[in-house]
Amino acid sequence: MKILFLDQSGKPGGAELCLIDIAKPYCDRALVGLFADGDFKTLLEQNQIPVEILTNQAIAVRKQSNLLQAFASLGQLAPLIAKVVEKAYKYDIIYANTQKALVVGAIASFVTRRPLVYHLHDILSLEHFSKTNLRVAINLANRFASLVIANSQASQKAFVQAGGKPELTTVVYNGFDPKTYQTCDEDIQKLRQQLGLENKFVVGHFSRLSPWKGQHILIEAIAKCPPQVTAILVGDALFGEQDYVQQLHQQIAQLGLENRVKFLGFRADIPQLMAACDLVTHTSTAPEPFGRVIVEAMLCGTPVIAAKAGGAMELVEHGVNGFLVTPGESQELAEVINTCVQETEITATIASQARNIASQRFDVANVNQQIAKSLKVIGDR
Ligand code: UDP
Repeated sequence: MKILFLDQSGKPGGAELCLIDIAKPYCDRALVGLFADGDFKTLLEQNQIPVEILTNQAIAVRKQSNLLQAFASLGQLAPLIAKVVEKAYKYDIIYANTQKALVVGAIASFVTRRPLVYHLHDILSLEHFSKTNLRVAINLANRFASLVIANSQASQKAFVQAGGKPELTTVVYNGFDPKTYQTCDEDIQKLRQQLGLENKFVVGHFSRLSPWKGQHILIEAIAKCPPQVTAILVGDALFGEQDYVQQLHQQIAQLGLENRVKFLGFRADIPQLMAACDLVTHTSTAPEPFGRVIVEAMLCGTPVIAAKAGGAMELVEHGVNGFLVTPGESQELAEVINTCVQETEITATIASQARNIASQRFDVANVNQQIAKSLKVIGDR
């Protein structure tokens, strides 16, 4: 089966990293068409997945745009749509991995009569999107998609609540190769040394720097923890949230935490960094659609605290394979961090359980089989 994958982003966010794993088994008969250049293209090439940038023009639709802006941007999209249509004739399925890819993919599917699959990596609610964008996404999916793959029950539920047809949906969690998360103790000790983290209790946060990812909540919590508790913030402002980055630096200065919070920027050595942490925290203030970082921490054997909302609640059972805290509550987060500092044995048992459960539950081989089965049904229709 030949698949044309479409993704609007040049930058490797969670949806894009997930797409690498999905496209890999099809690398001899697929193309990933991107609507922007960037590091994601390089990652695809490193994984031997054919990739092409389909437009050099920035697409101006924002998450909060209104109907007029949406229509105006449709005009802008015309050359891209023409290119995707031309490509799509050579493939059996169009696989849209993001919302703008859905818009372009839906039109290409209509013109070429190729079935459309929409991989939904978002919680389609007003917390994250404008009413117009929601309406456009739901209507296009309902009208043109043969299948909507939701990355969690939370994403599926939001899709249906916003008017999406439930019969189109299936839930498939992100897959991971547990081997990628096996690290060598000696390397990890070296890494801690290099980062100046010896004799510290290191709390990691792995996410792009963005207000709803809640790095400020972790910083607030660190101020309430004993002095050996130190944080590393791994990730960059992928979508230009420079004001937030500045706010974080101000907050750190005001709280006198300059020596206890380190910004590491975007990194490719996530398994090593997670293994170098004593704890990983996820602090999103709005419901997380899935939360790859939560599963990755589990696979590294590092205990994880997650914000209790959205997909994170499907991944973590409090006290069994991690900890859940109320989103936005830094006091509660500080208390759980302190428990982990003190109760090392119980915390280690929970982390070890988490690793075992996650290696099976999110095994990329099973996930790819699930997707292959669904695609075959669509292809055979
Ligand atoms: N990530 C990364 N380098 C960084 C920060 C994050 O490779 O410096 C990865 C992280 O390991 C995870 C993904 O980016 O796989 C983020 O996915 P998640 O589902 O947690 O959030 P999203 O970006 O989809 O909102």
